[in-house]
Amino acid sequence: MKNIIKNFAVFFLIFALIAAIFSFFDADRQSSEEISLDRLVEQINQDAVSRIEVRGNELSVFLKNGEEQKSKKENNESLVALLRNYEVPAEKIQAVEINIGDEPSPSIFLTILPFLIPILFIVGLIFFMMRQVQGVNTRAMSFGQSGAKLADRQKNRVTFKEVAGAKEAKEDLLEVVEFLKQPQKFINIGAKIPKGILLLGSPGTGKTLMARAVAGEANVPFFHISGSEFVEMFVGVGASRVRDLFKKAKKASPCIIFIDEIDAVGRQRGAGLGGSHDEREQTLNQILVEMDGFDNQTNVIVLAATNRPDVLDPALLRPGRFDRQVVIDLPDIKDREEILHIHAQKKPLAKDVDLKLVAQRTPGFSGADLANVLNEAAILTARANAKQINQQAILDSIERVMLGRERKSHILSPKEKEITAYHEAGHALVAHVLPHADPVHKISIISRGRAAGYTINLPKEDKKLKSYSEFIDSMAVLLGGYAAEKVFFHELTTGASNDLKRITEIARRLVTQFGMNEKMGPRTFGEREEMIFLGKEIHERRDYSEKTAELIDEQVSQYVNQALKTAMDLVSKHKDKMKKIADVLLEKETIEKNEFEALMA
Ligand code: ADP
Ligand code: MG
Ligand code: ZN
Repeated sequence: MKNIIKNFAVFFLIFALIAAIFSFFDADRQSSEEISLDRLVEQINQDAVSRIEVRGNELSVFLKNGEEQKSKKENNESLVALLRNYEVPAEKIQAVEINIGDEPSPSIFLTILPFLIPILFIVGLIFFMMRQVQGVNTRAMSFGQSGAKLADRQKNRVTFKEVAGAKEAKEDLLEVVEFLKQPQKFINIGAKIPKGILLLGSPGTGKTLMARAVAGEANVPFFHISGSEFVEMFVGVGASRVRDLFKKAKKASPCIIFIDEIDAVGRQRGAGLGGSHDEREQTLNQILVEMDGFDNQTNVIVLAATNRPDVLDPALLRPGRFDRQVVIDLPDIKDREEILHIHAQKKPLAKDVDLKLVAQRTPGFSGADLANVLNEAAILTARANAKQINQQAILDSIERVMLGRERKSHILSPKEKEITAYHEAGHALVAHVLPHADPVHKISIISRGRAAGYTINLPKEDKKLKSYSEFIDSMAVLLGGYAAEKVFFHELTTGASNDLKRITEIARRLVTQFGMNEKMGPRTFGEREEMIFLGKEIHERRDYSEKTAELIDEQVSQYVNQALKTAMDLVSKHKDKMKKIADVLLEKETIEKNEFEALMA
């Protein structure tokens, strides 16, 4: 489209230029004086004219004194006849040299111009339409092609240096890098290098980043496609895209194909409702076929990433396919510090910034969350017109990332403020008293996101396992707010609804997933599977009887009641401390960890 406009513009310009040149010449021709026939006759009679040139009806009159004049006669009459009619004596006419020239051809260009414009216009139009049709055509032709993006190798090159932590994952992947660099070394010794490697990890742990780093380290082409790009309305498109992708990759080998979010196509075949699983199946089959087709000389390695290994089709995980799995965990405290260092590199940090402390305060954060924290801190700093990011900005951003923005404009009425203060005090007090609950990190009655207030409890250290006692205590902490409202105001508000949702979830999982309930025994109840039907939906398949269902409900309720009792007892017993916390909250709105501990001591 742009091209066409450009072509037309150039055309038009040339056109205008030529026209200008011609009109210039025209103007030049008309520079001599124009005289009437009467005046010409008069001049001939006076013997002033030496020569007349006739071109059609135009006369160029050359005077004896060297001047040149122009005149016109009627079209069909000869000049001599004309002069006779004017009664010019014959000898006078003979004295003038009369040259008959060709008819002056008006410039060819100007003659054909009127025809040329519409023709050009029509040709242009046809050309334009053809291009459009062709566009549609090529688009239709490329429908089956993969939209895989070939990453520019030098620009945006990522190496392992830019990926913090994940030491084991890096070691595993280093093997792949070596293979891509010197395949012969491995082939000679008869070693088979895995064709497919699956990166597993929660969202934001850096799977995509890691895959790019592998390509960057090996310095090979990197085809990047997302699983969802294979999925179209039409059956067969995905499969043809897979074929196209692998064909391109083989041409560019050695190289890496990276299929991000492979669970979009690699879900267990036969699961899910609606027609789309047919298409997914074909796409998945095609991927498997292509990977089986690799021989030892094909230096193509397929990396795939997912955060849902549980839903993947077992056929994908078979030897010869994605048999190598690399797990990328959420970063631990040391890795978090490293990640923070990497992302802080291009940001001016104030002297008081202690990234180690930031790492301590962010258990459970993924790499992406941490990158986000520093970015939010930079935004906060820029908005405050400061030049350097200080520690306070970073700490504020942690909460912003964790809980959403502070909503200072969301003003609570004095009564609401009081209820919220006691509610949060309840959470904090129960957490403080119970031995297995996570310590209180901060309490606030400034609303954030959708919560009126919040209490942050952070574990003392990173934990992979959670024990029964910890679950029991954390359920009591969740009901601390509810209990406080009940004890101090004898009435409940909607402020506890989120707490209730969370406690029910925990109690249910204790019974049905963790096998922690004495009565129900060490087994799971119900199989969760995700069905994709008009969006996302979790469907639980019951593998237990109606009677068991009743028992489960009973046990869940029992956990909740037990937690409520603990919370009510503690809140009633420590009314004085509750009041202390609430008063400070009402006055200052937030209490930090140290202050809180001093208050409780
Ligand atoms: P995933 O694909 O696992 O969901 P990404 O690879 O897209 O996560 O990571 C998102 C962003 O988080 C990255 O672009 C990077 O800025 C940051 N990040 C995540 N993990 C790390 C890490 N280990 N080191 C450095 N940055 C990281
Ligand atoms: Mg990703
Ligand atoms: Zn609460």
